[in-house]
Amino acid sequence: MLIDSHAHIDFEAYTEDREDIIKRCQDKRMKVINVGAQYETSKFTVDLAQKYDFLYATVGLHPIHVYDEEFNIEDYQKLIDDKKRVVAIGECGFDYFYIKESGKSIEELKIKQKEVFLKHIELAKKNDLPLMLHGRNGKNGEMAYKDILEVLKEQDCHNGMIHCYGGDMEEAKGFLDQGFHIGFTGIITFKKKAEELQEIAKMVPMDKLIIETDSPYLSPEPYRGERNEPINVEFVARKIAELKNISYDEVVERTGQNSINLFKLR
Ligand SMILES: [Zn+2]
Repeated sequence: MLIDSHAHIDFEAYTEDREDIIKRCQDKRMKVINVGAQYETSKFTVDLAQKYDFLYATVGLHPIHVYDEEFNIEDYQKLIDDKKRVVAIGECGFDYFYIKESGKSIEELKIKQKEVFLKHIELAKKNDLPLMLHGRNGKNGEMAYKDILEVLKEQDCHNGMIHCYGGDMEEAKGFLDQGFHIGFTGIITFKKKAEELQEIAKMVPMDKLIIETDSPYLSPEPYRGERNEPINVEFVARKIAELKNISYDEVVERTGQNSINLFKLR
């Protein structure tokens, strides 16, 4: 089954035509995991998942938002309890790309992001849910993926996916050793700068590989630069098929089954 395992159709980019986007997913008979990035968007996501049975929710506070609001673990627990459509915790992790905007030093940022990340891990363990991980390295070589791996080891975490993978080959092997699935977005289709990522996708075993869009961002070729939407996950699947030298149908079937198993989709 075609599954977009990481999208944000609750975002403002879809205010005008969200129903159309949803309709196109339904027509394609796909499933979508919609990811919360702040408390309000997590809540909205859970409401959407209540309304549409092909759509599932995750709840969490994105690391770029840790200074915008507090991560109140009780409030998030209520979202999980109330609605029963929450399939993962996150997106959470480390993002060192927007250091300047926060006005904090890299050391302060790391401490704060780690504090919030640990609360997500606590919530995931308590509810036996997988983690939806986000990482982004800094512009001056600050290593988000390496730091995420360190926390996962330290906390003995083995359940979840690292979305929109952007680390190196060695770190990818580290995530696999830790038991994590690896998610690929439209970036894999880009002609330039995607060579290493394509090599990583070739290395990741088919039972650990997940496809996603990160809509509204990261439109794959041939729509690069435009607003993305979940149905475009098809182009990610086609690229994986080409890289792995297997059929498109096999990619759809195997990656879909991975998401169904990991997120216990019903
Ligand atoms: Zn995301």
